Amino acid sequence: MDHSITVVGRKKLAWEFPELSANWLMAFAATIVTGFSAICLSVLISMRQGDIDLAAQTSHNLAAAIHADIVRNVELYDLSLRNVVDVLRSPEIEKLTMPLRQLVLFDRAATAKHFGAIRVYDQAGDLIIDSSTLTPALENISMQENFTAHMEQTDDSLFIGRPFKTDIDEYIIFVSHRLSRNDGSFAGVVAGSIRLSYFNNLFRRLKMDSQDVLTLFRRDGAILMRNPPDASAMGRTLPNTSRFRDPKEIEGSFRVVAAIDGIDRLYVWKGSTIPLVVVAGKSMDDILSRWRGKAFLIGAAMLGLATLSIGFTVMLAAEMKRRTRAESKLAALANTDALTSLSNRRSFDGVMLAEWARARREQTPLSLLMIDADHFKGFNDTFGHQAGDTVLVGIAACIADNARRPHDCSARYGGEEFAVLLPNVRSEDAMQIAESIRFGVSGLPSEYRSITVSIGVATLVPVDGIDHRDLIYAADVALYQAKSRGRNQTVAQQSRQGELAA
Ligand code: GH3
Ligand code: MG
Ligand code: MG
Repeated sequence: MDHSITVVGRKKLAWEFPELSANWLMAFAATIVTGFSAICLSVLISMRQGDIDLAAQTSHNLAAAIHADIVRNVELYDLSLRNVVDVLRSPEIEKLTMPLRQLVLFDRAATAKHFGAIRVYDQAGDLIIDSSTLTPALENISMQENFTAHMEQTDDSLFIGRPFKTDIDEYIIFVSHRLSRNDGSFAGVVAGSIRLSYFNNLFRRLKMDSQDVLTLFRRDGAILMRNPPDASAMGRTLPNTSRFRDPKEIEGSFRVVAAIDGIDRLYVWKGSTIPLVVVAGKSMDDILSRWRGKAFLIGAAMLGLATLSIGFTVMLAAEMKRRTRAESKLAALANTDALTSLSNRRSFDGVMLAEWARARREQTPLSLLMIDADHFKGFNDTFGHQAGDTVLVGIAACIADNARRPHDCSARYGGEEFAVLLPNVRSEDAMQIAESIRFGVSGLPSEYRSITVSIGVATLVPVDGIDHRDLIYAADVALYQAKSRGRNQTVAQQSRQGELAA
């Protein structure tokens, strides 16, 4: 059988890009924005840590330099004190005259600018020798912190007292050593004093931000000196200073809200063998002020870009959705017959190819009804085309009512001719459906005259050697027979293919 229909299909590529949907676009944009935000955030965090590290390093250098200066001077002074302790141990000292004894006991270091006279007190706390005079005044220090501390402790290390206000309104701190007899018992105290003006001068030379602090602590956490000066802080023991007492630690850093002024600071401390600790503190506000400015700019730029990207993507996605809707509307229109709302011929051809392939794969029967209105030309001629159109809509409704399964395809094949494709429907069932349609049409209410249809039915199970055009041909032949036998009837195929029918 020679049929001249050829179906030209689009050549399918081996692999195609998946279609870009609006949701995919949104997900892509969200991923990009989240990714960039994460990178931005991690850069900001590392910049912040960099600024904190730099501030810690600067504070460390400052504390170390100040500490070195203090240690050098205090150690020099301490040498003088130790010299007194050592010389007093010697029994020969008693035999020297007073002026000679002064010369042996006190070297020139004791006269340095910020250091006070060195004095020796006996076990009762009474002043017995004074480096500044041969006739010591009456003085007793038995109630002083240095004296009681040396009475209790047996080691000969340097003791540093709390700041002490003298009669002439000057702050000094006492530094002292224990005098011990050969049997280790307490014999008195050798004490000197350091004017706090020394530390003041030292601290004042530094250029500091308004919230910076530099503090000199005794190792037990008592404040000896603070810059900026704060009289109420002198001698106070602060919390968070217990770490200074750990003999294994000589430096470190910590962040805390200051007990004195409530400012959040990063503190870096430096200690050594002598019981003094220098702490340099810088406020977190100062440390992070430059970073905050940069973070604000970068954050604002990132937020702006993210908002723009998301906004643009949302608009693009909305446009894509609009287009997709319009396309599917157009596609539906392109496949629908405008008058009857059934599938049009083009759509029917596509469905026919697909269903033929499926029936062939699954070896199931495929039935086709060809339906043609009888004497329709005459109807048109008598009642006009408008009336004819109304009848065609009625016939289409009848067809749609009887072919309702999801895979059934009812189409206007051309003019007053309809086709109904019934997948997986055997010949007898197709006949029944055809008869239902025919009765339905003949029973359609009409203000003109009633109309009838003739129907050709063909059913095939696809096998090698035949194709879908054979099914159409068979239904056409059956329709032609129905017409020639007098119309208003259904005829099943009487062709060679009929033998193949289910
Ligand atoms: P037969 O019983 O042999 O089928 O006779 P017939 O008059 O129906 O056959 P014919 O093919 O000669 O005429 C078909 C007529 O259908 C011609 C035309 O006027 C009419 N027709 C085709 N399409 C439409 C349409 O869309 N609207 C209307 N009103 N009439 C149509
Ligand atoms: Mg016709
Ligand atoms: Mg006709």
